[in-house]
Amino acid sequence: MSFDIHSIRKDFPILEQQVYGKPYTYFDSAATALRPLQVLQAMEKIFREFNGNPHRGAHYMSNQTTLAYEAVRDQVQHFINAPSREEIIFTKGTTESINLVAYSFGEAFVSEGDEIIISEMEHHANIVPWQMLAQRKKAVVKVLPISDRGELMLEKLDELITERTKLMAFNLVSNVLGTINPIKTIIEKAHHHNIPVLVDGAQGVQHGNVDVQDLDCDFFVFSGHKLYGPTGVGCLYGKRKWLDAMPPFLGGGEMIEKVSFSGTTFNALPYKFEAGTPNFTEVIGLGAAIDYVQQIGLTNIAAYEHELLEYATEKLRTMKGMRIIGEAENKASVISFLVGQIHPYDMGMFLDKMGFALRTGHHCAQPLMDRLGIPGTVRLSLAFYNTKEEIDQVVKAIEKTVELLS
Ligand code: PMP
Repeated sequence: MSFDIHSIRKDFPILEQQVYGKPYTYFDSAATALRPLQVLQAMEKIFREFNGNPHRGAHYMSNQTTLAYEAVRDQVQHFINAPSREEIIFTKGTTESINLVAYSFGEAFVSEGDEIIISEMEHHANIVPWQMLAQRKKAVVKVLPISDRGELMLEKLDELITERTKLMAFNLVSNVLGTINPIKTIIEKAHHHNIPVLVDGAQGVQHGNVDVQDLDCDFFVFSGHKLYGPTGVGCLYGKRKWLDAMPPFLGGGEMIEKVSFSGTTFNALPYKFEAGTPNFTEVIGLGAAIDYVQQIGLTNIAAYEHELLEYATEKLRTMKGMRIIGEAENKASVISFLVGQIHPYDMGMFLDKMGFALRTGHHCAQPLMDRLGIPGTVRLSLAFYNTKEEIDQVVKAIEKTVELLS
């Protein structure tokens, strides 16, 4: 390990909490990560010391928030290595980013009979907006299957691609299976047919370095709250050639150039896609979160989380009746499992009473559950503030739960 876990844990005040009189152990970072003090302090500073609507006033505070807000755009640009700051759009999160693309790209480029390809392991956020687009335009959503191990069946992609394929949308990392998808290979294949690709990075940006130029993806989306930042903020990166050709998603303040009752012209990128008062406090919190993970280093984070993943997988695998859902070769630190006939909700409830926060259910991936023929899973997701001792404790708690419920 190349960082001091004990001093890192001090940055996360929630880890000192107790629930039901027991120490609180957090294994649900894939749902929403904990936020370090540095993020809370950055946001508190805005609430206490700066209030001004960015881009909208000549006064001192408005200028301060404008500068801070726009500085985070530069930070995000560098964080994912986007070619320019104008290609970074602030949104409410991954869901809004995908809806923006489904609506605006769909308006510009999708017609009756056209096709969008997604996969069997997508989150509802990367399924439903495409279905809504398909309904609006009489287009078709096609689905790339997965293997029983939980890997994309890339060999089937060629069968799905036709002249009508207008876009592909895949996650970088599955929130259920933990699979890290070979997204660069997919993009190369898609580009060979001139098909753009949206990458859902909601479970990807927090586990390793992302370079959108190296991936050559057309769109990349993620949420602040899974990257140790606040809720209510996310990003959309899009190649300028697409964003320029796409109509605005929402109308209102700031996204305009000139408004009159006879018509309106729209602002340049990125503002064309940022209607209304921006969530500047959250954006500034996101900037602090990016600073924080960069100080630890995403390479260090990935290495440590991989160590935790292997440790936890080995421990769980030896348990009687244990079935790990998602055994891809290349995995991020997310482990879904079922034990014997125990329903995931029962397991989750018992673990909760012992102080362990794990997610249970379908994880907003019902089609994936149908594909696997299961009602849901228990999901243990590991972040860099977790420890091997915590894994030992949760394994004991799972064993105890199995004993009680069997
Ligand atoms: N995609 C994936 C893979 C996710 O895990 C999630 C969040 N669970 C989302 C999209 C949606 O993210 P948000 O709810 O932050 O918009």
